[in-house]
Amino acid sequence: MAICPHCKKHEFGVSHLSFGERPGSWHCDVCGYYSLVTVSGSKANPIYSIELTGERAYPITVTLETRTVPPVIFKLNAWKYAHSKNDSPEKFVENQRYYYEESTCPTNCLMITEQLIFEGDKDPHGLFQLKKIEIGHIDQNKDETLEIGAGIAQIES
Ligand SMILES: [Zn+2]
Repeated sequence: MAICPHCKKHEFGVSHLSFGERPGSWHCDVCGYYSLVTVSGSKANPIYSIELTGERAYPITVTLETRTVPPVIFKLNAWKYAHSKNDSPEKFVENQRYYYEESTCPTNCLMITEQLIFEGDKDPHGLFQLKKIEIGHIDQNKDETLEIGAGIAQIES
């Protein structure tokens, strides 16, 4: 692990880096500052060092609304990254519109959702309806020999 040199809170995973590898700068999910991780030492005993680049990202809250009637509103904890720092407000908004409306998978937005609003309710219990439980994750090859464990119900409606 390498600790963010600015906030000293976020830990970057570095064990996947090889000796001599330069992964480019990473932005801290806590404070937004960018750091550069370098791997020195030797292949057998890599030494990880981390230093601030001087660049930073700024936290922004993005509000998205589904095209359903009534709409569901999602508030996302997102970032204005360093590569957008010189964008005019209009260009930044247009780039964000393209990203959220056309480019990124809606599922990606759910991972950074901070608040979900339905008909004005910021904690809309009952919004979701359980439809089905299956063994395994979508991207896994399902093991047909797995049996449903005790206490796991299989629901399909
Ligand atoms: Zn940080």
